[in-house]
Amino acid sequence: MYYLFGLIGYPIKHSLSPWIHEQFMKQTNTRGEYTIFEIEQNADFKAEINNLRQKNIKGFNVTIPYKETIINELNDIDEQARNIGAVNTVLNLDGKLIGYNTDGLGYVKSLEKAYPSVKETDPNILLLGAGGAARGIYNGLKSSGYLNIDIANRTFEKAEKIKQTNLVGRTKILTLEEAESKLDQYDIIIQTTSVGMKPKTNEQIINLDKLKQTAIISDIVYQPIMTQFLKDGKKRGANIHKGHTMLLYQAELAFNIWTNQQIKMNDMDLKLQNKLEG
Ligand code: NAP
Repeated sequence: MYYLFGLIGYPIKHSLSPWIHEQFMKQTNTRGEYTIFEIEQNADFKAEINNLRQKNIKGFNVTIPYKETIINELNDIDEQARNIGAVNTVLNLDGKLIGYNTDGLGYVKSLEKAYPSVKETDPNILLLGAGGAARGIYNGLKSSGYLNIDIANRTFEKAEKIKQTNLVGRTKILTLEEAESKLDQYDIIIQTTSVGMKPKTNEQIINLDKLKQTAIISDIVYQPIMTQFLKDGKKRGANIHKGHTMLLYQAELAFNIWTNQQIKMNDMDLKLQNKLEG
């Protein structure tokens, strides 16, 4: 069996997904290829997806700006993706396209790999940002049993919208200023905005003056891997969690959906870090 996998989005020429999935294929002796299908915004999206279906592609990932648009082209969608309202992984089951979202659960897996007993402490979590990634992470955490998650975002209404998904547990919405002043109430602080990303690597979404020393500081930005936010947290003695591990675990869950194969992560995290740091 020779598998075709791929990624749709725009622009995606520099994506690391082909490299990650090639590592997975090598490890599991899966014969196949993972290709980038860049779809420009003025393209006939329906025709492009039908083209992939006709190629007999086994599965593909979906990234910006198509994570919501793809839903109209699917035959079915799993519960996690429906709750999030976005799809990042599609399985082609005999011509039927089924949508999943592995972003949130991938994030949770990466966090628990780094801090195995974190859930047992019933942590108070602060999510900074309310974009697409935050929505996935909020759902992933709540559906994995993390009950106390507050959200702070520049645009208040977007955070309110995430809260309205009505998952169990408690959620308060804060301004970024309130988050800064109440930081000592949180055990895990997850930075999901694009602030601090290359080339503006000196920027940081909030100051960490009130950070608890025992807190976990997590940033999903992975270019650079050590963002200003993580550097600041580390300097203050907190534990850190790096963004490239989310990228890795969302891919691992996607590969499992397509092939039923389990990946041994071993030193994959370090390999990806080296790849990113050139
Ligand atoms: P998005 O939907 O566009 O959301 C962007 C978020 O950043 C919003 O909350 C936005 O606030 C906030 N923001 C942007 N500029 C800001 C500023 N100057 N001040 C305050 N807030 C600002 O993007 P996304 O898809 O969620 O992605 C966000 C980041 O996560 C990107 O850097 C992306 O590369 C990274 N990411 C990483 C992974 C991974 O696997 N590690 C996966 C997905 C995404 P408003 O709502 O007020 O606009």
